[in-house]
Amino acid sequence: MSKVADAKCAELDRLEAGVRRGDRTLLARAITLVESRRPEDRTMARALLDRLLPATGGAHRIGVTGAPGVGKSTLIEALGTKLTGAGHRVAVLAIDPSSKRSGGSILGDKTRMERLASDPGAFIRPSPAAGVLGGVARATRESMLLAEAAGFDVVIVETVGTGQSETVVADMVDVFLVLLQPGAGDDLQGIKKGVLELADILAVNKADQDPARARRSARDYKAALRIVTPADAIWRPPVLTVSARTGDGLDALWEAILGHRKTLEAQGLFAEKRRAQQVKWMWALVEAGVVEREVAAGARSPAAAADVLLEAFFLTAAGEEGAG
Ligand code: GDP
Repeated sequence: MSKVADAKCAELDRLEAGVRRGDRTLLARAITLVESRRPEDRTMARALLDRLLPATGGAHRIGVTGAPGVGKSTLIEALGTKLTGAGHRVAVLAIDPSSKRSGGSILGDKTRMERLASDPGAFIRPSPAAGVLGGVARATRESMLLAEAAGFDVVIVETVGTGQSETVVADMVDVFLVLLQPGAGDDLQGIKKGVLELADILAVNKADQDPARARRSARDYKAALRIVTPADAIWRPPVLTVSARTGDGLDALWEAILGHRKTLEAQGLFAEKRRAQQVKWMWALVEAGVVEREVAAGARSPAAAADVLLEAFFLTAAGEEGAG
């Protein structure tokens, strides 16, 4: 082997061992590796993820969205601290599609989640600074796997509720929490019907300010939800009232998160959801790759590229079945 290959192999060994024993510095370095778009880093990132894959999947994967100012970071800090206090290990990741424009990222501000950031049971990673949503989503998904391999049993993915990124996050987590503020009457605060459709749990935050108003809002959201959730759905999203500031309602929120998982598991739908997410993710990667290389270069028509792809896919699948 060449010296370069030797050095790479040694680095890979070091990263793998470091992540497995939960070393934060090496976990952070591994995340930097999966965030990189340099081809040689991608090769190494893939090798690292392959090695760690058997150690992944063990976390509660929780997505949190909500408009800026609704209290996401306050809530994540309060819930995260509660969970680390109960012996959980909590990783917080972020997807912030606006970070390119603002020049910062939603977790980049050091004053956010100070307590959790210095908590030995927690790991906080700001959003990758820039890039298209697809790339940021890949990095976050892979970071989540690394955090799981490092022994974090709760992974919270935070996103600002302003568009496309909610779907991306909902597609990588087990349970999707939409955070709201007490609003007036039937005002849905610009929360789109599409976001309500993604929600597994809704929580009206800042209930400490005016509890009656918070409860009224919760009722309004519940009514709005009836339009998007079929009556026979196995999970009807609850609408809770919480206060990230006082901690009121956070136990009930955690219970709802666990209850959602139990309900899915009882029907065999939990594993099914993760499997479906993986398949969808695989195709998204394939699509991104095809568009980038072949179609964008004009080397193939989309239809011809799809044929090549499907053929390769089913040949591989058949080969694997035969081998297995
Ligand atoms: P984010 O932008 O969604 O992350 O919102 P932040 O967590 O930064 O909170 C925005 C503001 O709302 C801050 O001033 C918080 O102190 C305040 N805040 C957050 N949660 C609560 C709450 O439960 N009650 C009250 N009264 N204020 C809150």
